[in-house]
Amino acid sequence: MISQAQEILKDVFGYDEFRPLQQQIIENVLNRKDTVAIMPTGGGKSICYQIPALIFEGLTVVISPLISLMTDQIGQLHELGIPTVVLNSSLTQDEYTHNISMLKRGEAKMLYLAPETLVMDRTLQLLMSLNVACITIDEAHCISEWGHDFRPEYRQIAQIKKKFPNSVCIALTATATPQVQTDIRTSLDFSDSETFLASFDRDNLFIEIADKNSPLKQTVDYLNRFPEQSGIIYCLSRRQVDELSADLSNKGFSVKPYHAGLTDEERHQNQQEFIRDDVQIIVATVAFGMGINKPNVRFVLHHDLPKDIESYYQQIGRAGRDGLQSHCMLLFSYADIHKIKFFISQKSGQEQRVATMNLNALVSFAEADECRRIPLLNYFGEVYHGANCEMCDNCLAGEVVLHDLTIPAQKFLSCVKRTGERFGAGHIIDVLRGSRSQKILQCGHHTLSTYAIGKDLSKQQWFHLSRQFIQKELLVQDMQFGGLALTKKAWDVMLGEILFHGKIEELKRIKKSAAPKNVSNEDYDHTLFEILRAKRKELADAASIPPYAVFSDRSLIAMSVSLPETDGQFMKVHGVGAAKREKYGNIFMTLISEYTQSLN
Ligand code: ADP
Ligand code: ZN
Repeated sequence: MISQAQEILKDVFGYDEFRPLQQQIIENVLNRKDTVAIMPTGGGKSICYQIPALIFEGLTVVISPLISLMTDQIGQLHELGIPTVVLNSSLTQDEYTHNISMLKRGEAKMLYLAPETLVMDRTLQLLMSLNVACITIDEAHCISEWGHDFRPEYRQIAQIKKKFPNSVCIALTATATPQVQTDIRTSLDFSDSETFLASFDRDNLFIEIADKNSPLKQTVDYLNRFPEQSGIIYCLSRRQVDELSADLSNKGFSVKPYHAGLTDEERHQNQQEFIRDDVQIIVATVAFGMGINKPNVRFVLHHDLPKDIESYYQQIGRAGRDGLQSHCMLLFSYADIHKIKFFISQKSGQEQRVATMNLNALVSFAEADECRRIPLLNYFGEVYHGANCEMCDNCLAGEVVLHDLTIPAQKFLSCVKRTGERFGAGHIIDVLRGSRSQKILQCGHHTLSTYAIGKDLSKQQWFHLSRQFIQKELLVQDMQFGGLALTKKAWDVMLGEILFHGKIEELKRIKKSAAPKNVSNEDYDHTLFEILRAKRKELADAASIPPYAVFSDRSLIAMSVSLPETDGQFMKVHGVGAAKREKYGNIFMTLISEYTQSLN
């Protein structure tokens, strides 16, 4: 049976080989064993139930929590020539009747359903009258109260599953926490089941963290590295989203905002424009993401600090689903930590403790000198074995050189002392650098002996140092107000009893510039790629589907490299199966041959 699966992978989906665990999962499902599949976003979960669905005689029912996710999947399945229908509240009466009759005639291989629809009597009656071979539970973490998207209706799936004793069940999620995994198995009453847990390492994501010092300029510089490419910028608050998207728009970038303060219609519209490549960049709060399957997101920029590693990982996971190299940048600042601490302080007891622990884990991840993948994967209980991933800032920076920075440390610490251990790093740095700001004059800090003794270092360098002082426990920061105070160790440094060794910003930066600029791993003809891309957009618009449902970027790149001239050659292109060759082969091959002839 697995050779049949392999054939479908090539003929229908146009892929040459399975990704890790896909084959084992498919085999397990085909052997009618209940299965839990845990894979990171972009790992390739869909194929794990779609290929069995094509092999099974009967129907595969797919339970999915969001209409936008269903619509997206169905659009792609239709492009692949797979007969699929949906039942949900957004259908017109005509569409509903049409879909029901397709099911009754046994013409659909897959049925997508929202859990609310599944539990309705008339749906159940319909399903009982059909041959249901497989029940698929997508986004299965929605079943768990520990998950971030708990959906009470998901709890009823177990009851309903009992009514279909002959159907095999597969539950899929990208949430790896053990609690959620156990919850999925027990809630679904999986007795004889197997769990497949894929590695959470996304090796096509470049991970970088930089100090946030001039966020708008940093953002603009960053965006300029990705002309014409799709990306997401995450901010902490709605206000920040509105401000940043207005600023970027004024600077001529193609951006739209997304947050819970917009109307449903605005959100839908902006999301749609992004998915259809009408808009290049989305500036968003955490509200954006679930329900986005766009595979060619080339960068994710965290303008503000996320609240924990799990949400960070989930958000960067939206980049590079197509497997092409993509970039993730986090702008890190202590001021942001304070904003998050403020939110945490509003919570109660246990919740507050957990949130604080999670934030601390994120901060040590950001401050670490080791490969970013080590702490990131460790968070998911995985050990990273590579010596140098070559896909994170720390690995590219090589050995970090530590310098004797005792004198700047003494300057900073005594300035903290003289200003009364009440101020944050920003104010201390202003004093050290001799600022004439209102606040300094009002406090009389221009008369201190430490005033203007730190002009030799830039503001940025001082900020970077101040973080190391906190990290090395020379300073502690007040949870609520952000003021810095000295520790016993700080006195040892001030008195010259111990030396302070640390990093200094510029030196690190020079090495960092080695970071790869080109996002794609292959050299290809960009002019031809743009021609094909324009055609893809035209065809997608005409069919009201996202461009990636026609062809992925990866397929277009493969065409620009291999320049197919025959059907056989076209079928070899990554992501091209029989349906797409039939539908689009001639159109694209004609463009390619016109282009190559124009070069002669
Ligand atoms: P997930 O649901 O796990 O986030 P998807 O199922 O949407 O991931 O797959 C992510 C992308 O990878 C899709 O564009 C999909 O077509 C592609 N993909 C899946 N399996 C393979 C494979 N074996 N080879 C190449 N591409 C694949
Ligand atoms: Zn690394």
